Amino acid sequence: MEQIDDGVWSLEQPFSGTMPFTVAYLLVGRDGGITVIDPGERSDGNLTRLEKACERLGYALRDIRLVIGTHLHRDHVALVDDLRAAAGCEFAFGAVEWGAMQSLVSGEAETTWLRRYEDWGIPARARAELIELPAPAVPFSREPDRLLADGETIALTGRRLRVITTPGHTPGHLCMWDPDSRLVFTGDHILPFTYSGLGLGGVYSPGAVSDYLSSLDAVAQLPARCGLPGHEAPFPNVAARAGDLARHQLQRGGEVTAALDAGLESVWAIAATLTWSAGWENLHGFHLRSALAQTAMHLESLRRNDCVDAEAR
Ligand SMILES: [Zn+2]
Repeated sequence: MEQIDDGVWSLEQPFSGTMPFTVAYLLVGRDGGITVIDPGERSDGNLTRLEKACERLGYALRDIRLVIGTHLHRDHVALVDDLRAAAGCEFAFGAVEWGAMQSLVSGEAETTWLRRYEDWGIPARARAELIELPAPAVPFSREPDRLLADGETIALTGRRLRVITTPGHTPGHLCMWDPDSRLVFTGDHILPFTYSGLGLGGVYSPGAVSDYLSSLDAVAQLPARCGLPGHEAPFPNVAARAGDLARHQLQRGGEVTAALDAGLESVWAIAATLTWSAGWENLHGFHLRSALAQTAMHLESLRRNDCVDAEAR
């Protein structure tokens, strides 16, 4: 556990996925109540680690009053069921993200993926691989106590957090802005070193790319002194990093345009011409689906802009 600022601590919670750990943040209020942002993956070890962290601060697990989840990925929020049972705390989650989670629960997200595979011109072998992908895990079972909307303020004792809805990584991802300490909790919207990806929760919307660029800009506009991400380490240059990520997407959009100009049509054919950090031929399973989805999102974004241009003419 590491102290980040007055009353703000970070705790690395191990996770059995592509990242070695998720970062949980503990905010200690003046009345001794603790707020946790993203408690982490569900495991006995992670619950114990959180309990030990509270004890090191002179408190107990039951002093956790509120848990805030930035987005629906299990490495961030799946511990919340156990934590609510053990600490009796409240759970606040994004209203839009809760809607996206319902699409996982109802199976709508899976049905949408299957329909999209049909439209994307995917060769039979790769399509069979994608169809075999397991349905994404539903991260928690009980409805949140509080659904958060963009711009609302969460009042804690001695601290306020402003909710910023930052769609992109998932449909209703949230960042939390503390205007007094000028810290911004960025979840997976902005990581300092890794590109966290786009459209990775439930059903992505046709406007996903422009929503993502707008939400990068919204965070870049904050006079932040430090970004506190959901993985990796605190980073000072929030606006610069948001700019890097926006450029990465704009570059991909440029590559999609070039592929269209070259006469390519299907999502599969276009995706194969784009720059992927792992290399196109090395993409399989979730990574392949994510690459195809990102390509499709760019195509939809370009088509929407075409419609706007056509209307303007
Ligand atoms: Zn994550």
